[in-house]
Order: sequence, then structure tokens, then C-alpha cells
Amino acid sequence: MKYLILFLFFFSSIFSFASDEKKFALLRKKMVEEQILSRGMEDKKVLEAMERTPRHKFVPERYISQAYKDHPLPIGYGQTISQPYMVALMTHYLKLTGEVPPSGLKVLEIGTGSGYQAAILSELLKGKVYTIEIIEELGVSAARLLRALNYKNVEVKIGDGYFGWKEKAPFDRIIVTCAPDHLPAPLTEQLKEGGIMVIPVGPPGSYQTLWQIEKKEGKLIFNNMGGCIFVPFRRK
Ligand code: SAH
Repeated sequence: MKYLILFLFFFSSIFSFASDEKKFALLRKKMVEEQILSRGMEDKKVLEAMERTPRHKFVPERYISQAYKDHPLPIGYGQTISQPYMVALMTHYLKLTGEVPPSGLKVLEIGTGSGYQAAILSELLKGKVYTIEIIEELGVSAARLLRALNYKNVEVKIGDGYFGWKEKAPFDRIIVTCAPDHLPAPLTEQLKEGGIMVIPVGPPGSYQTLWQIEKKEGKLIFNNMGGCIFVPFRRK
């Protein structure tokens, strides 16, 4: 009898897990259609990555029911996982899927947070994602989650992203998901010739500008992609 109850319990948990995953897949499809495509972001590869990546696994348990809603969510330590549309847009501005060398691109992210943006990059890349987080607890748990979900080409480091990741530089792409009040010089130095950086810059908690910066013949070309609000870029 005891074994029968155990068996039934086991069976019903698998069943409810499968139906939950189905429900989340539907919510993801809806998120892509209603929040991203409807705003005119039509980059197919990015949309596919957003539809595949289980965002609900990157938010704290108590926010799971809001994981696919049209806004950022708290992830602890005063930080947030960005709004899905912003993740899609920044990823699109990085131009990861155009003409790419066979070995793939090397991407640096500053602000690992939940690890969600890194997972989206990993889905899209043949190359490698290096990501730096200043809050140790967040970095450690993101690294653990990314490993558990089998995102093999992501490496997480705890530290101040202001200085980039010298040992792994230069990078084809750099994405910054917190806003400094000026452009960190070490990051532009670590950007490869022909590379692209996407970064919000502006005062903390106030109106900031999202920049797409291209390095061409050693010069930086700035494209203003509009206003945004990100959590501040912290310094140790
Ligand atoms: N990309 C994240 C967004 C997290 S919010 C996601 O997908 O969830 C931005 C993150 O940047 C926060 O976790 C914050 O702790 C981190 N951060 C702020 N200043 C930093 C710095 N100087 N170096 C590295 N990470 C920083």
C-alpha cells in the first residue's frame, strides 16, 4: 500500500510538472507575440530564443506567476531581471546573427543578475558568453542555475564589471545591463575592431540613454537607441 501511494505521488508530480511546462510554453508564445512582435521587433532568431528560454526558472519562486508579464521583476539585493521586450531589443541591437565567423562570437555581459540575458545569448551563440556580476550571491546562484539548465558556453565571474575581463578580451560584442553614468573606458578598449557594444548610460534612477556603439577603424560610432531605465552600475 505504502509503495502504491508513493508510486501515485511520483506519477502525479511528473504529470503536473509536464502540464506546468506546457502552460509556461504557451505563456512564452504569448509574451513573444503580444510584447515583442507587436512592438515591431521581428528578429526571428531572437524571437525563437525568447520562446525557447524558460524565464520562469530565472525569477524568484514568489514571482513565478508574473515571469512572462510585460515588466521587470525583483531578483533580490535591490536588483531586477529586465522586462522581456528590453532583453529582446538589446539582444537584437547586438547583431549576433548576421555575418559571423565560423568559430562564433565572443560576448561579454556586465550584470549577470538572474542569468536570463546570458541564457538568451547562449541560445544564440556558437561562441562563448562571459558574464560578470558584482553581487556574489547573485553571481553564484546564476552560475549554478545556468549549469543546471545545461547552458554550457557561459562563464560567470564575480567582480566589478567596470574593468571588463582582461584575460578573455578582446570581445566581439559587449552588453551592459546596468547603467553607468559614463562609458567605462576599459570596456571600449576591450571591444574588438568591428565589434558592437550595447549599453545604457545615465544618472542613477533617472532617464538614461541606450547606446549601440560600433568600433570602426579604431573610432567609436554612437547610435542613440532611445530612453530607458536600468538599475545603477555599482562600484566596489
Ligand atoms: N542581465 C540581468 C539583469 C540584472 S540587473 C538579468 O538578465 O537578470 C543588473 C545587474 O548588474 C545586477 O545584478 C547588479 O548587481 C549588476 N551590477 C551592477 N553594477 C555592476 C558592476 N559594476 N559589475 C558587475 N555587475 C554589476
